[in-house]
Amino acid sequence: MGSSGSPAKASILACGEELIGGRRSDTNSTFLQQRLRRLGFTIRECRQVGDDAGDIAAALRELAARNDLVVITGGLGPTEDDRTREAAALAAGVALEESALGWEQVQRIFARAGRTPSPSNRRQALLPRGAGVLANDFGSAPGFTLSLGACRVAALPGVPREMQAMTEAVLLPWLLESFETHSAFEDRPLQVVGLAESVAGERIAPWMASPEPPAVAITAHEATLTITLTDRADAAGRRRLDAAIEAMSARLAPHLFAVGETRLEECVLRLLLARGRTLGVAESCTGGEICAALTSVAGASAVLLEGCVAYANQAKIVRLGVDQGTLERHGAVSEEVARAMAEGMRRQARSDYALAVTGVAGPGGGTEHKPVGTVWIACASGRATSAFHHRFLGDREAIRRRAAALALDVLRRELLEHEVLGGRG
Ligand code: ATP
Ligand code: MG
Repeated sequence: MGSSGSPAKASILACGEELIGGRRSDTNSTFLQQRLRRLGFTIRECRQVGDDAGDIAAALRELAARNDLVVITGGLGPTEDDRTREAAALAAGVALEESALGWEQVQRIFARAGRTPSPSNRRQALLPRGAGVLANDFGSAPGFTLSLGACRVAALPGVPREMQAMTEAVLLPWLLESFETHSAFEDRPLQVVGLAESVAGERIAPWMASPEPPAVAITAHEATLTITLTDRADAAGRRRLDAAIEAMSARLAPHLFAVGETRLEECVLRLLLARGRTLGVAESCTGGEICAALTSVAGASAVLLEGCVAYANQAKIVRLGVDQGTLERHGAVSEEVARAMAEGMRRQARSDYALAVTGVAGPGGGTEHKPVGTVWIACASGRATSAFHHRFLGDREAIRRRAAALALDVLRRELLEHEVLGGRG
């Protein structure tokens, strides 16, 4: 796909003072690496520079000299510290001039929001002479393309959401056109919850150890794992992927919750939607984490009726009807209280299901019998109330996240095991 038929070489240049200052991690580069690699590019280098136009121009010139493609992110905004347009003009040795198409795009976006662009927004239509416009329907700054010698350059905004949306909508089509490439590799992520990385690794060891494709890699997140299978995006590669996924699914069940880019909260929400069921959530140590996760998914309003952060014992009594005697006898972090919280929540919200979580997130508050990380999760339904004990490791944040994820998983498994699709029973 490169000039000599070998893979095209690509590098990424991420611009932003916050990136080199360590105030923000460079997730844009990670995203672009994955997308470009999938298209068959060989990634040579990922570089970060601050907001200095001279530094950006120098980095761009160097990268352009030894790559077929450089993708830039960041610095396309309307403010003085947004120097990417200027830097690209500098590197190309051309003037900045207003692009009619670029200005149209800025105006169109503002009109859609019922606003008029300010004079500083006019800067966003300034592009190096000879640049092509990459339409940005997701924010105000248009991206652009440019040739630096034999190297093609594409510049995208820094806001991750905009950058990602533009990559799918305009960058990938432009790359397919400019490089006569095609998707060379396909990634299939398997999403797993409730298994330690080491245990998951043991279960899929034959595939991880094998030198044969597909390649298999595990990434551990706070509470879930992603096992990514990668193979060639041709018929033989897809057959191998399908076969490996089928075999691995059997080893990972029931912890495998999705194949694809699906978050656990999305998976749970979809199950509830498909079954026409509603939910209430009573949270103590997770402090609203479960509701925050669920409400981040579009469509949550159809299933999530109510959430309650009942942190103090008094709140558990008043809001959820937990019996004072139960609290005194067993303590707030106990099976009995978790069950009572879930049942109280379900009554209160008049929902089909209710989840409850109570635990010791630390760093203080642990005892010999209830050490830091002790968490009880309960799930109440019309059928029964189930309760689960966990002992999580990690710091306060990790314990809270894991407790929230495992609570969602309890509900997921309840829905899969005891609910018939589509019916109210
Ligand atoms: P804007 O119009 O918002 O100014 P921009 O194209 O100028 O967009 P920046 O100002 O560089 O982009 O960054 C906008 C936001 O995106 C900032 O919050 C920044 O921290 C974030 N951001 C920029 N680059 C990256 C990156 N490589 N990875 C993750 N986040 C980034
Ligand atoms: Mg900016």
